[in-house]
Amino acid sequence: MHSLRQRLCMTELRCQICGVAADRASEGVLWLVDADPWDLAPGGETTAHPPVCRPCAHLSVRACPHLRTRQVALCVRTFRPAGVRGALYAPAPGGPRLHARRSRPTGRGW
Ligand SMILES: [Zn+2]
Repeated sequence: MHSLRQRLCMTELRCQICGVAADRASEGVLWLVDADPWDLAPGGETTAHPPVCRPCAHLSVRACPHLRTRQVALCVRTFRPAGVRGALYAPAPGGPRLHARRSRPTGRGW
Protein backbone atom coordinates (compact mmCIF):
# COMPACT_ATOMS: atom_id res chain seq x y z
CA MET A 1 0.00 0.00 0.00
CA HIS A 2 1.21 3.49 -0.83
CA SER A 3 2.60 5.02 2.37
CA LEU A 4 0.80 8.37 2.03
CA ARG A 5 -2.51 6.64 1.34
CA GLN A 6 -1.90 4.32 4.29
CA ARG A 7 -1.29 7.25 6.62
CA LEU A 8 -4.34 9.17 5.41
CA CYS A 9 -6.55 6.12 5.73
CA MET A 10 -5.28 5.39 9.23
CA THR A 11 -5.55 8.95 10.54
CA GLU A 12 -8.86 9.78 8.85
CA LEU A 13 -10.33 6.27 9.13
CA ARG A 14 -10.87 5.88 5.42
CA CYS A 15 -11.29 2.61 3.59
CA GLN A 16 -7.89 1.35 2.46
CA ILE A 17 -9.33 0.22 -0.87
CA CYS A 18 -11.73 2.91 -2.14
CA GLY A 19 -10.89 5.84 0.16
CA VAL A 20 -14.42 6.57 1.45
CA ALA A 21 -15.15 6.65 5.18
CA ALA A 22 -14.55 3.25 6.74
CA ASP A 23 -17.61 1.43 8.05
CA ARG A 24 -18.55 2.68 11.51
CA ALA A 25 -21.14 1.52 13.97
CA SER A 26 -21.71 1.94 17.67
CA GLU A 27 -19.52 -1.15 18.17
CA GLY A 28 -16.56 0.44 16.40
CA VAL A 29 -14.76 0.82 13.07
CA LEU A 30 -14.56 -2.11 10.66
CA TRP A 31 -11.15 -3.72 10.21
CA LEU A 32 -10.60 -6.81 8.11
CA VAL A 33 -7.61 -8.83 9.30
CA ASP A 34 -5.79 -11.69 7.60
CA ALA A 35 -5.71 -13.98 10.64
CA ASP A 36 -7.39 -16.84 12.38
CA PRO A 37 -9.63 -15.65 15.23
CA TRP A 38 -7.68 -17.65 17.83
CA ASP A 39 -4.38 -16.07 16.69
CA LEU A 40 -5.42 -12.51 17.60
CA ALA A 41 -3.36 -10.94 20.34
CA PRO A 42 -5.30 -10.68 23.61
CA GLY A 43 -5.73 -7.03 24.55
CA GLY A 44 -4.64 -5.64 21.21
CA GLU A 45 -3.67 -6.30 17.65
CA THR A 46 -1.16 -4.45 15.47
CA THR A 47 -1.74 -4.16 11.74
CA ALA A 48 -0.31 -2.14 8.88
CA HIS A 49 -3.66 -2.24 7.10
CA PRO A 50 -6.18 0.58 7.54
CA PRO A 51 -9.90 -0.05 8.10
CA VAL A 52 -12.36 -0.82 5.31
CA CYS A 53 -15.89 0.01 4.24
CA ARG A 54 -18.41 -2.82 4.20
CA PRO A 55 -18.68 -3.17 0.36
CA CYS A 56 -14.88 -3.39 0.04
CA ALA A 57 -14.74 -5.92 2.89
CA HIS A 58 -17.09 -8.21 0.98
CA LEU A 59 -15.18 -7.68 -2.26
CA SER A 60 -11.80 -8.27 -0.57
CA VAL A 61 -12.83 -11.61 0.90
CA ARG A 62 -13.76 -12.82 -2.58
CA ALA A 63 -10.86 -11.25 -4.50
CA CYS A 64 -7.82 -11.45 -2.20
CA PRO A 65 -6.08 -14.85 -2.09
CA HIS A 66 -4.92 -14.25 1.50
CA LEU A 67 -8.33 -13.23 2.78
CA ARG A 68 -10.15 -15.90 0.80
CA THR A 69 -8.84 -18.65 3.07
CA ARG A 70 -8.91 -16.85 6.40
CA GLN A 71 -10.12 -13.52 7.69
CA VAL A 72 -11.56 -11.87 10.76
CA ALA A 73 -13.84 -8.84 10.66
CA LEU A 74 -13.32 -6.69 13.75
CA CYS A 75 -15.32 -3.74 15.09
CA VAL A 76 -12.57 -1.76 16.78
CA ARG A 77 -13.45 0.79 19.45
CA THR A 78 -10.02 2.09 20.37
CA PHE A 79 -6.95 2.32 18.21
CA ARG A 80 -3.84 4.41 17.71
CA PRO A 81 -1.10 4.58 15.10
CA ALA A 82 1.76 2.36 16.23
CA GLY A 83 4.47 2.90 13.67
CA VAL A 84 5.52 3.12 10.07
CA ARG A 85 6.10 0.28 7.66
CA GLY A 86 7.82 0.92 4.40
CA ALA A 87 11.03 1.20 2.51
CA LEU A 88 13.58 3.89 3.35
CA TYR A 89 15.16 5.62 0.37
CA ALA A 90 18.26 7.77 0.50
CA PRO A 91 19.23 10.49 -1.96
CA ALA A 92 21.68 9.21 -4.53
CA PRO A 93 23.09 10.35 -7.87
CA GLY A 94 20.50 9.54 -10.50
CA GLY A 95 17.62 9.40 -8.01
CA PRO A 96 16.66 7.92 -4.66
CA ARG A 97 18.09 4.49 -3.86
CA LEU A 98 16.62 1.86 -1.56
CA HIS A 99 18.40 2.07 1.80
CA ALA A 100 16.46 -0.36 4.00
CA ARG A 101 13.09 -1.95 4.54
CA ARG A 102 11.80 -1.24 7.99
CA SER A 103 8.91 -1.68 10.27
CA ARG A 104 9.35 0.24 13.47
CA PRO A 105 7.33 2.04 16.06
CA THR A 106 7.57 5.80 15.85
CA GLY A 107 6.71 6.41 19.47
CA ARG A 108 5.54 9.89 18.55
CA GLY A 109 2.43 9.27 16.54
CA TRP A 110 2.19 10.53 12.99
ZN1 LIG B 1 -14.12 0.80 0.42
